[in-house]
Amino acid sequence: MKRSGVHALSFDVEEHFQVSAFWSEERRSQWETYESRVERNTEKILDLLSRRGVYATFFVLGWVAKRHQRLVRTIVDQGHELASHGYGHELITNQRPDQFRDDVRKSKQLLEDIAGVPVYGYRAPSFTIVARTRWALPILVEEGYRYDSSIFPIRHDRYGMPEAVPYCHCIDTESGPLWEVPPSTLKVGAIRIPIAGGGYFRLFPYPILRRLLDGAAVHGHPLIMYLHPWELDPEQPRMAGSWLSTFRHYLNLDKTEARLKRLLSDFPFTTIRNTLDTIEQAGLKRAGLANRSRVNVQDHASRYMMGNGHG
Ligand SMILES: [Zn+2]
Repeated sequence: MKRSGVHALSFDVEEHFQVSAFWSEERRSQWETYESRVERNTEKILDLLSRRGVYATFFVLGWVAKRHQRLVRTIVDQGHELASHGYGHELITNQRPDQFRDDVRKSKQLLEDIAGVPVYGYRAPSFTIVARTRWALPILVEEGYRYDSSIFPIRHDRYGMPEAVPYCHCIDTESGPLWEVPPSTLKVGAIRIPIAGGGYFRLFPYPILRRLLDGAAVHGHPLIMYLHPWELDPEQPRMAGSWLSTFRHYLNLDKTEARLKRLLSDFPFTTIRNTLDTIEQAGLKRAGLANRSRVNVQDHASRYMMGNGHG
């Protein structure tokens, strides 16, 4: 039986050789020389979604968008939400605020020029909005973004903000409101574990994953899932890296596609924009017309987002 709720499905559209786990200056300088596989992998996902009538959010890397403009337009033409994964996959933890501003401005402008639709969402490379890079949030507001999906409320060796709110919520930054859309996690005993995508999505046997997702979706919280096109590509050329990075990146790649199909038959998914609209409308309904004069951050953000429906 299909679960209820309005869950969000998202994809970070990047090449298999751009992931942070295998990052080196040398490899970065060779990006142009590697075989591009992102277009066919993303098309596989688009095909899978269109056969099921499911819409999703695609955080496209600017570097990829520039080289695959037709793919960007196809994503939008098929009714999906286009969002930004930054331009060059530089970790925010390695950037100064002015470099970050340039990166998110350049990528948003490029995507909007190619696709002719506004871009409201941002996800940082490797979820690198952490405690010491919180300065990125007001910059996103100033650059015209309305939501961010970069804060992972867990402990991890490369990212994470374990103390962060683990559900969709509105942050009142010094430059205005910004929705934060953290990938889904589940508290098991004293620790919060990530279950929403990447290596974690491929780690547990599917029935266990489904039970964990059911657990995360109680109390009406939408699931926020994320995957990458390269995760549906078991044939991708192998890259050298640390034992842990190699394990995480290549684990069960041959099972992702079948697993994604099962996920799509078990849970109803839509774009992040649609999920946020639903949360806002429910919030307004709860607040009721009588309370409309009591403006709080959530209401403010609601009015800010509404009237810009897409997909
Ligand atoms: Zn990425």
